[in-house]
Amino acid sequence: MRLSRYFLPVLKENPAEAQIVSHRYMLRAGMIKQQAAGIYSWLPLGYKVLKRIEQIVHEEQIRVGHIPLLMPTLQPADLWRESGRYDDYGQEMLRIKDRHERDMLFGPTNEEMITDIFRAHVNSYKELPLTLYHIQWKFRDEVRPRFGVMRGREFLMKDGYNFDLTKEDALHAYNRHMVSYLRTYERMGLTAIPMRAASGPIGGDNTHEFLVLASTGESEVFYDAKVPELKLGDRAVDYDNRAEVAAICEEFTTLYARTDETHDEALFNAIPEERRKVGRGIEVGQIFYFGTKYSESMGATVVTAEGNRVPVEMGSHGIGVSRLLGALIEANHDDKGIIWPEGVTPFHCGIVNLKQGDAATDAACEALYKALVAAGLDPLYDDRDERAGAKFATMDLIGLPWRITVGPKGLGKGVVELTSRRTGESEELSAEAAVARIV
Ligand code: ATP
Ligand code: MG
Ligand code: MG
Ligand code: MG
Repeated sequence: MRLSRYFLPVLKENPAEAQIVSHRYMLRAGMIKQQAAGIYSWLPLGYKVLKRIEQIVHEEQIRVGHIPLLMPTLQPADLWRESGRYDDYGQEMLRIKDRHERDMLFGPTNEEMITDIFRAHVNSYKELPLTLYHIQWKFRDEVRPRFGVMRGREFLMKDGYNFDLTKEDALHAYNRHMVSYLRTYERMGLTAIPMRAASGPIGGDNTHEFLVLASTGESEVFYDAKVPELKLGDRAVDYDNRAEVAAICEEFTTLYARTDETHDEALFNAIPEERRKVGRGIEVGQIFYFGTKYSESMGATVVTAEGNRVPVEMGSHGIGVSRLLGALIEANHDDKGIIWPEGVTPFHCGIVNLKQGDAATDAACEALYKALVAAGLDPLYDDRDERAGAKFATMDLIGLPWRITVGPKGLGKGVVELTSRRTGESEELSAEAAVARIV
């Protein structure tokens, strides 16, 4: 992409309404525009990152055998009357009437609808296990939408639902989700810690939240200093192997890590004092096992091998896809702007032309641009007629992992300058070597 032809409405001033750094940088970098409280347009740069995050979530769900589908944003109230949640859910639910005076709602989550799909089409234990998921916009009329996309009213969530015959099978599905989530967050360059959670309106006993440590997080967290050091890494996991998956969950959940909702002072004080950490965290996901809560009330049953009809065992599992942009920036920035991890960056690198209009420099930039594209990369070429300082400031703000600076002086020596956004370190090398370094 050539910046002169892109749509990147960068703001020079700090927007007054933004209280935290991620919100400030998303507005300044022209990633989002607020349309109403907690409702945003995703401008091209923000949309690109959102799509990259979504893609990672899809890949990791499909890797473990979960099946994507797409349910609508609008739902009939009658489904929620069946589960009893139409009255329970309260003011966070946006209720709408259609022209025939039928009660509708903008879905805050999809347990009822997926249970309705299941009961319409599945009848036998032979069709289990089954996990269906989608990535779809949700609406929750939050009392206090704030911090930009971190607490929006309209937000993008991945929500998946497992259907199993026995509790044991459903707990394996729970564990499989936990491990797939660990891999999902790690691929984005994030450390998200599973913490035992309280269940809330979805119901159920087994539940963990995934928290990214950040001073601006809304939850207070208590954890053993060894927990953030745990990494899944690139170990091969057989997701059908129950013992193997359970062992990984145990590895990640045995040390103390809880939010204020489930914090236990006595257990916490049993950790050696120098390892006791208190901080704040951003909830980027949550997994629940809730058994037959919805299948019983909504009549989602299967016939067993013995010919008995039993309610199906279920759980639901969510990732805050749009919230993750905020969490990623909270965890990766400096005073100049965002520092995207390679896994989610909107462009792989930026090219800064120091002397736009100079035939030789322009030609070198064009050649470099073509070489990067040929190598399968997606570069952003700042070909605007601007001062070098302004070009550098834009690149620093939007946070691409690499910047390649091209000017007449370097070209005289046959080199360009390659700068890492994260370390700030620069080196001079040939254009070919710079491309090879980034690939
Ligand atoms: P919170 O405690 O922050 O209100 P929640 O526990 O109500 O979140 P869940 O029902 O667990 O949310 O939804 C799954 C995920 O969706 C959350 O872990 C979070 O990452 C994301 N999410 C929930 N509410 C919002 C929101 N208002 N804006 C953006 N993302 C959200
Ligand atoms: Mg909530
Ligand atoms: Mg929560
Ligand atoms: Mg939650």
